[in-house]
Formats: sequence, C-alpha cells, structure tokens
Amino acid sequence: MTTPQLSVVVPCFNEAAVIERFHSAVGGVLGRSGLDYEICYVDDGSTDRTRDIIRGLGAADRRVRYTVLSRNFGKEAAMLAGLRMSRGQAVILMDADLQHPPELIPRMLELHGQGYDQVVPRRTREGEGAARTVLSRCYYALVRRLMNVEVLDGAGDFRLLSRQAVDAVLALPEANRFSKGIFSWIGFTTITFTYQNVQRLAGNSKWGSRHLLNYGIDGLLSFNNRPLRLAIYAGVWCFLAALGYAVWVAFDVALHGAVAPGYATLLMAVVGLGGIQLITLGIIGEYVGRIYHEVKRRPPFVVRETDEHPAPSPSSPLRGSLAPARGRRATTRQFATFVAIGFVNTAVYLAVYAGLHPWIPYLAAHVLGYAVSVVGSFLLNSCLTVRTRPTWHAFLRYPLSSGFNLVASGALLYVAVSRFEMDKNVAALVAGVLVTPVSFLLARWAINSGRRPSDAGGMVSSGPARTRQDDPTPG
Ligand code: UDP
Ligand code: MG
Repeated sequence: MTTPQLSVVVPCFNEAAVIERFHSAVGGVLGRSGLDYEICYVDDGSTDRTRDIIRGLGAADRRVRYTVLSRNFGKEAAMLAGLRMSRGQAVILMDADLQHPPELIPRMLELHGQGYDQVVPRRTREGEGAARTVLSRCYYALVRRLMNVEVLDGAGDFRLLSRQAVDAVLALPEANRFSKGIFSWIGFTTITFTYQNVQRLAGNSKWGSRHLLNYGIDGLLSFNNRPLRLAIYAGVWCFLAALGYAVWVAFDVALHGAVAPGYATLLMAVVGLGGIQLITLGIIGEYVGRIYHEVKRRPPFVVRETDEHPAPSPSSPLRGSLAPARGRRATTRQFATFVAIGFVNTAVYLAVYAGLHPWIPYLAAHVLGYAVSVVGSFLLNSCLTVRTRPTWHAFLRYPLSSGFNLVASGALLYVAVSRFEMDKNVAALVAGVLVTPVSFLLARWAINSGRRPSDAGGMVSSGPARTRQDDPTPG
C-alpha cells in the first residue's frame, strides 16, 4: 500500500471482548467515507485473545496492519508504536473500547479538510462517578495553573493529527511521554468540539485510582519545573518566618530575660521543617528519577511481531499456515521494491560506466560506477525495501554484500566480454540481472544485521525513550 489518506491508530490491551465490534464499526464508517485508509492495531502485550484477533483481521484485510509489543508497555508506548507505524496523511488515535465514537470520524475529517492540523473531540463527563468528576475538575484546574501547556478537561488522546503534527510528535525524543501535554506542546491549528461521553462497550477500564494519581503526577512533572520553584518559595518563606521568630525571641529575651523550656515550639519547628524538607527531597527525587530513566536511553517499547514480520507462537492457530504466507508476501514486496530500486541504481551505474569506460579501463569504470550506486542503493533499500532507518552500522556492512556482488558481477562481466566478446554495455546489464536475487538477500541481511529481530521492518523505536508500564491515559 502506498501512502494512505488516513491511518487509524488503535492501542489495545486485553480488548478481545470488543475489538471485532470496534473493527466493524470503524470499517463501516471508513468504508462509507470512500477514503484510502489503513487501521494500525497495536497489541500492548495482551494476555487474552486480542493478538490472535488482530492477526486474523490483518490476514483478512490488507488495510489492517498490526504491531504486537513484547509485553505490556502502557498506553503511551502503544500509541507511540502506532504513530510510528502509521503512514497516512492524517492519523486518528482511537481507543478500542468504542468510547471514542467512530461516527465522529467524518466530522473530524471535515474539520481537517478545513485546514486544522489537530481536531480534538472533547467528551462531556456524563455518566461518570461524582467523585471522579470532582477530582478530574480539580486536577485540570491545578494543571491549568501549574503547567506550561494547556490541557483541556475532557480532551483525551482521541484526536485527528495531520501528518505534519504526527511528525512533530514523533520528533520528540523524551522517554516520559505525557501525550496530552505533547499534543498541546507541538501547537499547530487546533479545533475542539464536544461529544457525549460513552461508556466502555465491554471489558474493563485498565486504570484504577492509584494509576490515575500516578498519571496526574506524571503530567504535572512532565511539562514544568514549577514544583521545584514551589520548593524554593516554601524554603524562602520558612527561612523568613524563622528569621522573624528569631528576632522576636531576641527581643523577648532582651525585655524579659531567658525563659527556659520552649521545647514545644522547637519540636513544632523541627517537625514542620523536616516535613518540608522531605517533600522537597521527594520532588527533587521525582525529577532525578526522570533524568535517570532518560539517560538510560531505553526504547519505549519492544516489538514482538508485525504484520510484515510475523512471529508465530506455538499456541497460535495461524502457525504454519497463514503466518508464513504473510512472511512470503512481505518478502515478495521487498524483492519487487528491491528490483525497482535496482533499475534506478543500474541506470546510475550504467551512466557512470558508459561515461567512463572510453577513457579508463572498463573494469575500473565498472568499480567506480558501482561505488556511486552503492550509497544510493543503501539509502533507498533501507527506507523503501526493508523500511528501517539507515544506520551507520548497517552502512558499514552494506559494502560487504556489495563487495561480493561486485566480484560476482565483475567476474560475469569479464567472462562475457573476454570469452564471448559481448558488447560491454550489454554485458554489464546481463551481469547485473543475474546477480540480483543474491544481491537482494545480501542487501537485506546487511541492512538488518546488528538489529534485534524486532527492529526489522523499521517498527522498533531506537529512540532514547522509556515508558512507564503503568502510564494510564484517561480521556
Ligand atoms: N490500553 C493500552 N495499554 C494499556 C492500557 C490501555 O493499549 O496498558 C488501551 C486500551 O486497550 C484502550 C485504551 O488504551 O484501547 C484506553 O484504555 P481504557 O479504556 O482502559 O482507559 P479509560 O477509557 O478507562 O481511560
Ligand atoms: Mg476506555
């Protein structure tokens, strides 16, 4: 599939009860829209049948793509994986539990068509428990005062992002991802509209109150250093109060003489100051902890398999039948792309070769032409054939395969020219065609070598990010 007009990214964690109904609901809406679309499911280490179901959906419909993470990395990581695999000119992020109504998609597309880079449906809080509503409102009021970015009550991850906005999100290397803050931070023209809150269709919410509290703290700390400022202010006020009290005590002693005990005051001062110090240390600790995780530069998730690189498990009913077929399909696509790129590179090679061999020995012209095409070949095959980011490691290995290729095609060329007296240009072309399949396997090996298996296909993050396992993202 070439660049689709729309990608729908769906993080899924134990959604077997609802995922098929979600798929037909979204498929129905997208089908009616007449758009060229893809649905990118990310299985975030589910322990139920979610993975098998999305594999099945992928097998039945080429517009369905999927990535399976090696364990539960949290919704933030799953969304990031989905955004990375998405190829659409616009991307819609949706939960799998149908709490994000698919019927809103046409309205979102319409607003995007009017030029908005972010279209954000905001849910009302209808049907939500009173305690959660009050807590959420207080939290957002606090966040508005403390955070450097605007986070709207009711605006969750459900949103449409233009490709430019998605690229901006993906360009941020941070590990502690607080998407609501990130979406706000990247800016771009944004429009919101409200919709009625919907209850989850089936299954359970993954977030209890402890997760929500952690998420709230994450959000507050991710986008500002004001808690550290507050600690400084608290310290300054305590110091000033202590100074005032010391002056008062000094006057009191001067006027009335020293009065012995005063241990209650002392005790209160010690306990009060101790408390403030501990809170301050805690705040600093939170920031230091974040720095610690950032410097470890761990990827935010690890990919177990994708639709292009299936990894059948013994328990999978697809094992031995469907999965290899998908693997073969991927290899066929890769080979076709490789051949197309080969034509481009052969043209480059021939241009250099034909331009040089009248003046220098034809084998030298062959080597030079070959060298020029190797760099282009490496870049194109990394990005288009294997669909992974070119790395220096792979680039250093690429000439190994190319070297073999060079010798083989050179030998063929030599035999063709010296033994069979073939035209030099035709001989070079024939040699190039004959070594293509071997060349494909070697090139793919070189590009993939040095990566973890899950990196292959460009689906794995190599960014420095880390994601909390328990990073809830309530709407
Ligand atoms: N989710 C996920 N990984 C997790 C937790 C949740 O991918 O660790 C997905 C989940 O499958 C759903 C979405 O994130 O598609 C929202 O989760 P949930 O409905 O539990 O959150 P709530 O709506 O209660 O805030
Ligand atoms: Mg939900």
